[in-house]
Amino acid sequence: MKNFFKKIFKKSNGFANGKPTRQHIEFDDNLLDKNAIKVIKTIYKAGYEVYLVGGCVRDLLLGLKPKDFDIATSAKPEQVHKLFKRSRLIGKRFRLVHVLFGVRDFLEVATFRSGKVKTAKNGVIVRDNHYGRIEDDVVRRDFNINALYYDIHTKEVIDYVGGLEDIRAGEIHVIGNAAKRFAEDPVRMIRAIRFAEKLGSEMSEEIKVAILKQAPLLGNVSSARLYEECIKLFQNEYSFAVYEQLEKYGLLRYLFKQTHKNDFIKKACNNTSERIKQGKPVTPVFLFAVFLWQAQNERFALIKKKQRSFHLAQLQACDEAIINQIKQVSMPRYITAKMRDVWMMQHKLEKMQPKKIQFLLEHRGFRIAYDFLVLRSQSINPELKKTADFWTKAQQ
Ligand code: ATP
Ligand code: MG
Repeated sequence: MKNFFKKIFKKSNGFANGKPTRQHIEFDDNLLDKNAIKVIKTIYKAGYEVYLVGGCVRDLLLGLKPKDFDIATSAKPEQVHKLFKRSRLIGKRFRLVHVLFGVRDFLEVATFRSGKVKTAKNGVIVRDNHYGRIEDDVVRRDFNINALYYDIHTKEVIDYVGGLEDIRAGEIHVIGNAAKRFAEDPVRMIRAIRFAEKLGSEMSEEIKVAILKQAPLLGNVSSARLYEECIKLFQNEYSFAVYEQLEKYGLLRYLFKQTHKNDFIKKACNNTSERIKQGKPVTPVFLFAVFLWQAQNERFALIKKKQRSFHLAQLQACDEAIINQIKQVSMPRYITAKMRDVWMMQHKLEKMQPKKIQFLLEHRGFRIAYDFLVLRSQSINPELKKTADFWTKAQQ
């Protein structure tokens, strides 16, 4: 990994009296999002404090291309909203402003919030909406490496917690007490695993111990929230490494309790990573269909004993695997419908019935079902190699 940061890093001078370290760093203009700069300048001109924050600063320091640019400011959401014609207020648990640039193109602007949180008996955050100063905003963030602010006007990284040092050293530390912060929001545990793999960093001992102890708390997180998180976990260049770490730390069973590691899963994760590296599109349909394939097969074997219709047994097996899954991680219906298509088509592809060939080739789900078959033939079902070759030729 090109580590831009290593070249320019100067040893930080500590955090005495809650004073931040300020490090002058000039990022290449091309790496900064043009819209983010515009938004920051507008808020700044209106007289507020405003910074780039979080993952984008971290990634810029590591020489990675940030996925999104988040902005933090002293302006209240309503004040930000007034500054941008094309913006909207969003959020229930906490209010944010989205400044819109296109249908799916927007920037998130968050007002500094205090770390003061109201927690339920089990430690989970129920309210987190007290506005504060930047010093307060820092400590509500999850990890030191995610709590860096960048002032585009002075070109300074502002560091209250030692995030610069952690980035340099390749370490991940929780801000505050790990056990407590994971109890507040158990999603932080899977974020720690993901960042460790993404950045090639090491989680602190405190994090490791806390996750091993508190992994079951992940089971309390709403299934809707976990869907987005799961996509982030597995649709990336280091998908299988994340899978293995989640398993090692006892977290996987709270996301995919029906899934057990095999060569098919490894191949599919690596295939997803490879596609992303090559800039090819990926869909959660594929990976989740792979993750649940064995569960679906096991259901089918049981149901088939009682159910005479092959087709109905298949449908029921698919439904049961999916129903079990969405208790943990919910998935939109259009995704689960396509997963079912992939599974149902496997049998049809395996049969290679001459009359059905054209129909199957023209089926909208053919491509993904075919990819699925090929990966099976390369892993858990080597006996399908000839079948996979047949469909490879049939398309030409
Ligand atoms: P990436 O975009 O690569 O997934 P990120 O760090 O930008 O990484 P986001 O989910 O975009 O992650 O969140 C932006 C910032 O918000 C984080 O850097 C962190 O400071 C803060 N944050 C996000 N989720 C949490 C959380 N669960 N608890 C505390 N802070 C969080
Ligand atoms: Mg981000």
